[in-house]
Amino acid sequence: MTGQNERSRRPSRADVAAAARIKATTAVDDMVAESAGRTTTQLRSTALTWPGTNTVQPEPVACLESARELERAAHELAERYICLARETGRSWHEIGEALDLHWAAAANKESIAAEAYDYALRYQPGTGRRTFTWTCPACQQQVTDNGPWPDPPEQEDGHAADCARRTAQLDAWQRRPPGPA
Ligand SMILES: [Zn+2]
Repeated sequence: MTGQNERSRRPSRADVAAAARIKATTAVDDMVAESAGRTTTQLRSTALTWPGTNTVQPEPVACLESARELERAAHELAERYICLARETGRSWHEIGEALDLHWAAAANKESIAAEAYDYALRYQPGTGRRTFTWTCPACQQQVTDNGPWPDPPEQEDGHAADCARRTAQLDAWQRRPPGPA
């Protein structure tokens, strides 16, 4: 194993997960240090926490609050990057791969692309009908993304009539080789 090979090696999912764990731990430590370990609400002393049973420092509830807000912030980032990925022409299948949704897809007997679309909608706020929208870089229109089914003509609404990207996408689909997709 040479240094060159080590540098050009593609990271494994486990490598990325390990790096995230280290970063998340550091982020929680920093957040708790900045708030001096204070919690957003007053904690009660109970029979189990008093007197002096809780000798863990910093306060675990403060760490939990920070970890929870990091989780929410990470979901917001994921949604933003899904949006950018769609704008740059990445498929729902590629997004599902990036989100590591193989297990969920197998468990739900869905395609990984369908799982990715479900993931993208799941974290939207509100209770009304959820839609996924992004701005087409070719025609600058807001596109409503209907997800990876059934066929390209039904997948996206809102492109300009003469959108070069949309035209190329539909042309490629019409010229696809016959047989199962
Ligand atoms: Zn367009």
